Amino acid sequence: MSQTMPSAMPTEQLVNELQTFGARLVDPNAGADSRRGGAGPSDHKALTLDGMTVMVPVHTGTASASPYLVEKPDAEGRGRISRDGVDLGEVRFPRRPRFYDLQTEDGIPYSKIAVLHGADVLATTVLQSCVRYQSRSKTCQFCAIGESLAAGRTIERKTPAQLAAVAKAAVELDGVKHMVMTTGTPPGKDRGAAILVESAAAVKAAVDLPIQAQCEPPDDDAWFARLKAAGVDALGMHLEAVTPEVRARIMPGKAQVPLERYFTAFEAAVQVFGRGQVSTYILAGLGDSVEAILDMSARLVALGVYPFVVPFVPISGTPLENHPAPTAEFMHAILEPLAGMLVRSGLQATDIKAGCGKCGACSALSTYERRLVA
Ligand code: SF4
Repeated sequence: MSQTMPSAMPTEQLVNELQTFGARLVDPNAGADSRRGGAGPSDHKALTLDGMTVMVPVHTGTASASPYLVEKPDAEGRGRISRDGVDLGEVRFPRRPRFYDLQTEDGIPYSKIAVLHGADVLATTVLQSCVRYQSRSKTCQFCAIGESLAAGRTIERKTPAQLAAVAKAAVELDGVKHMVMTTGTPPGKDRGAAILVESAAAVKAAVDLPIQAQCEPPDDDAWFARLKAAGVDALGMHLEAVTPEVRARIMPGKAQVPLERYFTAFEAAVQVFGRGQVSTYILAGLGDSVEAILDMSARLVALGVYPFVVPFVPISGTPLENHPAPTAEFMHAILEPLAGMLVRSGLQATDIKAGCGKCGACSALSTYERRLVA
């Protein structure tokens, strides 16, 4: 059986539908462990189809009613996928990473320090607590950073030495190609940049692995040069929502950092990291209109910032767990013109050195770009 989807449906449409509907799994334990809780996207399972690995929601309410069904995979991790009972072809579950079997000398499993995302990305949340997560009135409503910590699936603070050891093992045993280092926001004015600097320096001293760091805009733009000097190759500063009303409702704490600060920070960071190496995550489906997201994206692209627009996924255990996911039509209305804008401007996922935009598994955006370029 080949991995090519025999479906007449264009690949970007299939990826878009899988990410908005989610999928039902005949065997929920198939493939590598799926993330529940944590910073950023969660409740997904990685699936490879047509040569691309995508994160597909499987533990959400929406997914339980999805028209997509994935059969129990064979011993090689290959399973059939169907839509409303019509067979579409084969998908593959990436195997469990070998580095998950290792542990530190003091007995901490490597999988509690960093995890595999997509096909070849090592992802870690250096600090698994956040100044904005102290009360439900301030927390970002989509975020589950405290859930995986409370469930004992991770540790609160990953030391530079732990991160270096896990990164080295993930490269050597599993062929990991780049690394995402995100962090909850600590109380200090650097907003996490300082711990990202020491973490990146330790990883780069141990192994040659491109790194994307992710944090809120720090108080001082000098942090961008420090991050770069420590070995950070690309930077993410995430808007999440773009209009003031949606920002205030969805992330009341983080919205206190004004949009204008994000823009001065983007400009300064592009000077340091280069066009296309600075990105921002935008969650579509939380109230921002198609036009608002495209207008913001045009402003970002003009600055050389890659807008990584992903469909919102309602994560269990968060205040938004019953909020609907966006429709495939809504995402298509954004992703098709956005991909055109990116390709015309020479800002493409394939040129990003590391991070979410390069991985692309949480959005169909790079699939749209790929079709345009082809
Ligand atoms: S896009 Fe980012 S959050 Fe999503 S799987 Fe890839 S590295 Fe992880």
